[in-house]
Amino acid sequence: MQRRDGAWDCLVIGAGVTGLLAARILKDRGKRTLVLEKSTGVGGRMATRRIEEAVFDHGAQFFTVQDCRFEAWARLWREQGVITTWSMGFASADGRLQPDAIPRFRGAPGMTSVPKWLASDLDICLGDAAVGVSRDEGVWRVDTEDGAVHRAGALILTAPVPQSLALFAASPELLPRFAREILSAIEYDPCFAVLAILDGPSGLPAPGGLRAPTESIAWMADNHIKGVSPHASALTIHAGPHFTREYLESDREFVAKVLLGEALPWLRSPVRQAHVHCWRYSQPLHTHPERFLGIAEPAPLLFAGDAFGGPRIEGAALSGLAAADYVLGAE
Ligand SMILES: Cc1cc2nc3c(=O)[nH]c(=O)nc-3n(C[C@H](O)[C@H](O)[C@H](O)COP(=O)(O)OP(=O)(O)OC[C@H]3O[C@@H](n4cnc5c(N)ncnc54)[C@H](O)[C@@H]3O)c2cc1C
Repeated sequence: MQRRDGAWDCLVIGAGVTGLLAARILKDRGKRTLVLEKSTGVGGRMATRRIEEAVFDHGAQFFTVQDCRFEAWARLWREQGVITTWSMGFASADGRLQPDAIPRFRGAPGMTSVPKWLASDLDICLGDAAVGVSRDEGVWRVDTEDGAVHRAGALILTAPVPQSLALFAASPELLPRFAREILSAIEYDPCFAVLAILDGPSGLPAPGGLRAPTESIAWMADNHIKGVSPHASALTIHAGPHFTREYLESDREFVAKVLLGEALPWLRSPVRQAHVHCWRYSQPLHTHPERFLGIAEPAPLLFAGDAFGGPRIEGAALSGLAAADYVLGAE
């Protein structure tokens, strides 16, 4: 598993789709790879959460497929029952379905199915955040919150860029100036997600997704109609970036009240419970044109994720695949 000198071939920080796909490829090609994840589960923004009987996809809602390399993975996931087609379009603010020819895929049963499938048999440390990156006797060294020290010949960072950059706070000299300039310009929109349990059906039209129904709400989904929450009516509401920025520091109960108030015309049943999750780094405002930012010397160091090459799940996946290719080719 680990090299005799205690170092891995590659360390991957972050167990979202970018990091897991990179690690999957590296492991399949015989590279001893360790993934470090600060949360207690895998998936990052591909997130599914259970509250009592209700189940919510509260981060990414679905994904589309354009690139043929990603298409091959999506085909495999479909064959394995890890994903299924959700719809060919959603309703817009007037409640009418806007069908098109583009399939939207969802995890089966929820969005975390994909990361869970990718993670099986990988070496992953969960629930321990990386806190610093340094160089140690010719290899990369990553220190964690719990005091663990991991070393590797190559390092791939897949957390949202500001979080990856923060790991170099005590060792800024490890990043060339050009990299610091590119990375520090990458920003993300925040997004509030309200997770509401209803006493009965929501009233959202099939297939259970509604785009931009009000000024403050970017998206609403009925997880019961979607097939994620078979035993309870569970609604996900995503606030738009302007609303989220404006109320970022506000009391979460207030945020829930405002958003549920705006959602009222689509709620046929009373809200029994509501929880608010804040995605500080929801989606990148713009993306770097390359699939990753790589520094070859003195040993491979890569920044990857949905801020590189293309946003969303497909962009993140392609970034992870490209990062793994680079590490494999850098020997
Ligand atoms: C509300 C919302 C809705 C979205 N809707 C869609 C959609 O419908 N379709 C779509 O295609 N995309 C959507 N996206 C975007 C999509 O979720 C992302 O593009 C994709 O999941 C990014 O994957 P990633 O692996 O690059 O990053 P992440 O999923 O963010 O993974 C990074 C991981 O790094 C971990 N991490 C961070 N810091 C550390 C540290 N110090 N140590 C260890 N681990 C660390 C994090 O916990 C996380 O697990 C949405 C995102 C949000 C938030």
